[in-house]
Parts: sequence; C-alpha cells; structure tokens
Amino acid sequence: MKKVVITSPRQAEVVDVPRPKAVGDWALVEVKAIPMCTEYKAFAAGTPSQHLGHEAAGVVVEVAQPGRVSLGDRVAVMPFHPCGVCALCVSGDYIHCQQAHDYETYAGTPEGRATYSEYLLKPDWLLPRIPDGVSFELGSLALCGIGPTFGAMDRMAVDTFDTVLVTGMGPVGLGGVVNGKYRGARVVAVESIPYRADKARELGADLVLDPADPDNLQHIMDLTGGLGVDKAVDCSGVVAAQRFCIDATRRRGQIAFVGECYDPMPLTISPDMIRKGLTLHGSWHYNLSLFPKVMQVIEGAPVVSQLISHTFALDDVQQAFELSASHQCAKIILTP
Ligand SMILES: [Zn+2]
Ligand SMILES: [Zn+2]
Repeated sequence: MKKVVITSPRQAEVVDVPRPKAVGDWALVEVKAIPMCTEYKAFAAGTPSQHLGHEAAGVVVEVAQPGRVSLGDRVAVMPFHPCGVCALCVSGDYIHCQQAHDYETYAGTPEGRATYSEYLLKPDWLLPRIPDGVSFELGSLALCGIGPTFGAMDRMAVDTFDTVLVTGMGPVGLGGVVNGKYRGARVVAVESIPYRADKARELGADLVLDPADPDNLQHIMDLTGGLGVDKAVDCSGVVAAQRFCIDATRRRGQIAFVGECYDPMPLTISPDMIRKGLTLHGSWHYNLSLFPKVMQVIEGAPVVSQLISHTFALDDVQQAFELSASHQCAKIILTP
C-alpha cells in the first residue's frame, strides 16, 4: 500500500509498504479522505516522519472477528489506539487514556498506524459510522475540522445568548466559527492572514479582528457593552492570543484552550481568576458520546463544505504540503 513519509526539509514522498492485517478488535480501513492538520510543521522542519496524520474517513474492508463494525461500513477514524478498558476510555474520554496500546506489539507491524496511507488499523469502537448522505470528505471533518471546537463549545454550553471569541483561524479555528454560528452565538474571530480572515467571514463570523490592531480589546468592549465576551476558544496556540482570551472574556466567563502550546502564559491568580471568576478548560478533542452531535453539525451547517478549501490526490502530497505550509488554505483533504 502507499503511504506518505517526510524525508528531509520540505520533502514528502509516497512509498510502498506492506498492508497490515486486521487483528483482534482492530479493523482494517481503506482510507478515502485524509484531512491535513499540523503535519506541515514536520514537513517544514524536515523532521523525518514515517507515520503521519491522525484524521481520516474510510471503509471497513477486513475484520479479524465479529465486532462492532462490518465489512463495507463507512466510518470516521478517531485518533490514537487507546486501551478501551480504563475509566477514561469507558467514559468516552479515551483521548486522555494513560495506557494506550503499543501499536507495533498489538498490530504485529509498524504499518497502518497513521492516516496518510491507503489503509490503516483501528480499534472497532473508534470507528463510528458516517451517515449515508454524508461524503467521506465531509465525514472526515468530524476530526479536527469540527471536532475540537465542538468539544470546547459543548463543555462551555455555548448558545444563542453568547458572544464567543475564537482566536486563530487555522482549520480548527475556522471550524470554531462554524460551531459557534451553528449554536446561534455571535462569533468574533481573530486572524492575521487575510485568506483565513476572509474565510472566517465567509463562514459567518460577525466580526474579524487583526491581532496587529492595538485596539482589539476596545473593539470587544464596544461590541459587548463594556463587559467582554461570554466565552472564548483559543485555537492559535499563541501566547498573546491566549492572554487576549483572558483579557477579553467577561467576569464569570469561560475559556477553552484548544491550540497546542508549550510556552508559559502569564496568569495572575487574583485579578485574572479569583476576582474575575473565570473558568478555564483544557480541551483536547471531544468525548466519543458527542460524535452523533458532531455529525449533526456536519449535516446541518450549510457552510460546512466551505471549510474544505482544497483536495489533492495522495500522489500529489508534496504540492499539498507546500500549500498547507503556506497557510493560504482552510482544510486540505488528501484522497488516496
Ligand atoms: Zn484507556
Ligand atoms: Zn488534526
């Protein structure tokens, strides 16, 4: 089977590797749509990478035993290979599983673990079905396109009475605009790249701010009667944007951090937390029980297809990576 590897800075290749076999409750999925995510960082840095991607949709083509999926099922492929039996997994919060399977030990091969590939292996309980009327491309948005901000907004119970700030209009943040509007909220987006700022407007953002504007806090206060936004979701992973979420959210408001970041953010407990009464959430992906609702957004939000800006064949992955690294795109989908 074909899979994508990164060999050197800004160089991706399609190589041929043995196809894995279904084993235990891990089913073999023929991949039909691969949303590109943060893998462009490894592409740009030239980090040699053999196993790329964590998002996909496809068809079950082989099972090793009777289980939760059948041959021909059209499925979304959820991330990782968690244990499936710990309290976190059983509750649906498998993304936080602390005893994930060692892939190679369970699968008997290193191949099939990643999604930039023609086939992959996945525990059958992480292959929820995509409704018949939903394409593989749109179904794959149940992963990072729509999923992470759905999880964040579900935890904060974002609704039509809210003004929601979403910082960072990469594909995840753009999905935040879709989710916020689907829930009836007023959405304020923050983005510096004109292509992505325009895309946020196209998806329904009510106000789009440029992070370079020194008056952004004032713009938020003007919009909210001097109070601040009710809820905020950082999808940028940039410290200045995280801090802006703290400053722009009203007293007793809530903030979810979705964008990955390993740099410290300045936070002072009394003024930022105690006196302001903020609730901060670390929000990684979403609870598996929410999958039907995520699919409801994908089926019901009229703008959701506009979240996909480009589609490339797997063989054209080099070109797709160059575009992804340029940020002149929303979600890019590879089709094997
Ligand atoms: Zn677990
Ligand atoms: Zn992703």
